[in-house]
Amino acid sequence: MRAATVIIIAMLAALCLGFGILLCLLAVHGLHAQPRENKSMIIEQGSAKIEASVGDGAWNVNDAALRAWIQNAADSVATYYGRFPLDRVDLRISPGGRVGVGRGMTWPDHGGGLIKIRVGSDTTAQDFADDWMLTHEMTHLAFPSMPDEHHWIEEGLATYIEPIARVRAHHLDENEMWFEMVRDMHQGLPHEGDQGLDRTQSWANTYWGGALFCFVSDVEIHRATHNAKGLDDALRAILAAGGNINEDWPLDRALATGDRATGTHVLEDAYAQMGNQYHMVDLDAMWKELGVAREGDHVVFNDAASMAATRRAITWGHAAPDAKVVPVH
Ligand SMILES: [Zn+2]
Repeated sequence: MRAATVIIIAMLAALCLGFGILLCLLAVHGLHAQPRENKSMIIEQGSAKIEASVGDGAWNVNDAALRAWIQNAADSVATYYGRFPLDRVDLRISPGGRVGVGRGMTWPDHGGGLIKIRVGSDTTAQDFADDWMLTHEMTHLAFPSMPDEHHWIEEGLATYIEPIARVRAHHLDENEMWFEMVRDMHQGLPHEGDQGLDRTQSWANTYWGGALFCFVSDVEIHRATHNAKGLDDALRAILAAGGNINEDWPLDRALATGDRATGTHVLEDAYAQMGNQYHMVDLDAMWKELGVAREGDHVVFNDAASMAATRRAITWGHAAPDAKVVPVH
């Protein structure tokens, strides 16, 4: 009897303990599952859906501010490319730090895209308005994945296009965009001994060397077509041909596809010049032609400059009032 009672008591105790553990697990799971469910939202851009979810951690960010940040970045990229590059994006936000946005990374994701980015737990609507990084990451969705030696074109495109896309969607001031371009573009100039974009593995070469390639190409496409076409036409054509981040393309194919769309050889020629050899660019002469000059902490435009119309066309695309001139091939 006593032994049996002990066994029964022990069994009951084990059952209670097991039940307790189960309750604990449910409670822990519930605690984590609940806020995560509350912190996900769908943002639509045309037919594209961006599913944003916020990971665990302190989080005081206003939902409307978060939604507007994502919407504005998506609208900027869609404005530049004529549509959002992919139908589906999984945007995973990690709370981290106090304010601001950082550590963005983008990957292909079974036909869609995956973006991971860090957002400070007290980030405000104003902090979001100052952010460029999410637009940069979304720009990566719109170009095919490249072999490692051409990583510069992936980062160069995102670096060059992000501010233009934001200006066109009215999320960045035109003056600020040109001020920053004049201030920063020289970082992409080659140094003594550099052997071209493919063979110089520095941060400056990858981001700003790539951006310089895009800028020079954009100006030359406008020059060759009397402002009828721009780099945006080349990039839209690459995207229309299926060249998004889920596709592995050789660089040659992307450049040839872009050149076909503008009726020029600008991209292939620029790569021949800058890809595998030292090639200096006279940036000062380009700013002068475009009619843009830095004065202290701002920029002044000269509309009498020889390529002032090209500056407006680069900024606004086909929306530029004087950008539509009969193309010359
Ligand atoms: Zn990037």
